[in-house]
Amino acid sequence: MNTFPEVEQEKGKQTGGTQANEQAAKKEIPPEESFLLEKSIQCPVCDSKFKSKAVKSGRAVRMEPDRDMRPRFRHIDTLKYDIISCPNCGYTAMTRYFDHLSTMQIRLIREGISAKFNPPTTKEGAFYTHDEAIDKYKLALVNTMVKRGKDSEKAYACLKISWLLRGKAENMPEETEEEQKAKEAVKQEEEKFYLQAYEGFSTALANEMFPICGMDQSTMDYLLAYMSYHFGKYEIASKFLAGVLSSGTASRRMKDLALDLKDDIVRKLRKKEG
Ligand SMILES: [Zn+2]
Repeated sequence: MNTFPEVEQEKGKQTGGTQANEQAAKKEIPPEESFLLEKSIQCPVCDSKFKSKAVKSGRAVRMEPDRDMRPRFRHIDTLKYDIISCPNCGYTAMTRYFDHLSTMQIRLIREGISAKFNPPTTKEGAFYTHDEAIDKYKLALVNTMVKRGKDSEKAYACLKISWLLRGKAENMPEETEEEQKAKEAVKQEEEKFYLQAYEGFSTALANEMFPICGMDQSTMDYLLAYMSYHFGKYEIASKFLAGVLSSGTASRRMKDLALDLKDDIVRKLRKKEG
């Protein structure tokens, strides 16, 4: 999460965008399934074996992440595939958590999820749409509650759902009034999950040890600084930023991001005072 390779030049941007060029550019977009592979998984809850989609390593080209570190790749939203869902019993978790279940949690999932789960009746497509991925993450969130998972795991699922909603909105048209309304609704849902993630991480910070969701303290401090800023809590944002800037282990890139954010916060605070 703390590597930020350079932004790649978008292909064909210099060519002026005639219709022929646009068509040529469209042809160049590789199909989403060409980025994917089928991984063999064994479910820790029901023991059944199944295939789950994952992104081939090194295939997707990384682009500049959003300011809150939402990862972005050219031609594919890789977040859609960071989740595993058992089609047999409904047990679902983000990839990093999937294999880690205690005996008690397996029992809780069997009672709280599998007992009510209806296996899908249609075959899965060649790739996940944003809506399909969001549904899987929402199921993961329910699973986390049922298995009495940590606040950080719930918060992380909420963060990823909000990021997926952002990715979904980016690809939505906004020509007609109806389309604008639909896009606005997706953005409102993004805000709702973003706030839940913010509150969840704040709670987790008080009760859990680092690393939290694979993030070290300065990464988490930066994320919470950005989220505090987003929600207009500038004093809290400054406090988290101080943690990043005084950290002996934060990367140069992380400190640069923190300094940029600090400038924005100072500007907002001046505006508030003035
Ligand atoms: Zn299962």
